[in-house]
Amino acid sequence: MFCTQCGLELRAEDRFCSRCGKRTETAATEAACRPLLLDKENKKIAGVCAGFARYFDMDVSLMRVIWLAVGLTAGVGFLAYLAAWIIVPSDRTRRAPEAFAPHARAY
Ligand SMILES: [Zn+2]
Repeated sequence: MFCTQCGLELRAEDRFCSRCGKRTETAATEAACRPLLLDKENKKIAGVCAGFARYFDMDVSLMRVIWLAVGLTAGVGFLAYLAAWIIVPSDRTRRAPEAFAPHARAY
């Protein structure tokens, strides 16, 4: 496997290019099939923000700020939060394989 940006040869298990930092296909595939689950290990309330942050590969604090901003301005944020809480399955009941959450430890 070669980096699509700089052409450096990479190992199959590499998630990022060691030279230019570009995501490899391995990381892209993982991101594509990562399930949206409530993150019960990093939760503040229900794990909705942490779950969405993991799903979108974003910082969990930034995701909380976005949820709060939407909730305060549009008023639908809290309803959306409750809906997500009910709809999105918990990672406690359906344990995500560790390979699908390689960044969870960083939070
Ligand atoms: Zn590269």
